Amino acid sequence: MTRVAIVTGGTRGIGAAISKALKAAGHTVAASYAGNDEAAAKFKAETGIATYKWDVGDFDACAAGVAQVEKDLGPVDILVNNAGITRDGFFHKMSKDQWSAVIRTNLDSLFNMTRPVIEGMRNRGFGRVIVISSINGQKGQAGQVNYSAAKAGDIGFVKALALEGAAKGITANVIAPGYIGTEMVQAIDPKVLETRILPLIPTGRLGQPDEIARAVVFLASDDSGYITGSTLSINGGQYLA
Ligand code: NDP
Repeated sequence: MTRVAIVTGGTRGIGAAISKALKAAGHTVAASYAGNDEAAAKFKAETGIATYKWDVGDFDACAAGVAQVEKDLGPVDILVNNAGITRDGFFHKMSKDQWSAVIRTNLDSLFNMTRPVIEGMRNRGFGRVIVISSINGQKGQAGQVNYSAAKAGDIGFVKALALEGAAKGITANVIAPGYIGTEMVQAIDPKVLETRILPLIPTGRLGQPDEIARAVVFLASDDSGYITGSTLSINGGQYLA
């Protein structure tokens, strides 16, 4: 069945793979982004997927963005909260700005984006909310107290939302990726990758954005209606939660 999906941060990295996979599965996709107009324009030209610019940390901008998508494409049945940032640093050196930027973009965004779509989902008796968390929200990561806190927050958010939405045909689930070969990870010094990162991963390789995207397509489908409140780890065996 064709549905309308919003993928936040859907123009680059993992989000771009998710947008493309949802489109390939027959859905009508809106890919949002923050400010990288060049990447968004390239993505739109290559894929034909509609792109929208707003800040997921800003509630009013999200409400207006969702309203625009619904006007252009129709009611949103699938929401993929994927947009995220890091501002790493050891906690004893971490600034309030580093903390706030990460909490705002990675955690406040769940309220900002999900609140404007949830009532419509409840009224229509169907919804899929999928949140892209991280292995570092499950196990913690030195240098990422802010990011680990936000990403662990994803899991509590989804569990509570799942309970509220279950009787209304709405599922909410988390995907927790490990190291995925996006531009960010590929930019790591190959020596560091080879000697310090790959040995931590039992499969001996990085994950690919498509491997996250395929799981999103399944969790967004009608077939996954009995899966809710769960966290799906996709990390090559690096951390077994
Ligand atoms: P990228 O940095 O490649 O892309 C991030 C996307 O999010 C971009 O489209 C960006 O827009 C958008 N974005 C960032 N901030 C905002 C904002 N304030 N408002 C709206 N959009 C915003 O990220 P990845 O693909 O690497 O990561 C995607 C998700 O997966 C994140 O939540 C990340 O934490 C998580 N993750 C990634 C892993 C990895 O190995 N890469 C591992 C585990 C989890 P713009 O292009 O305009 O900047």
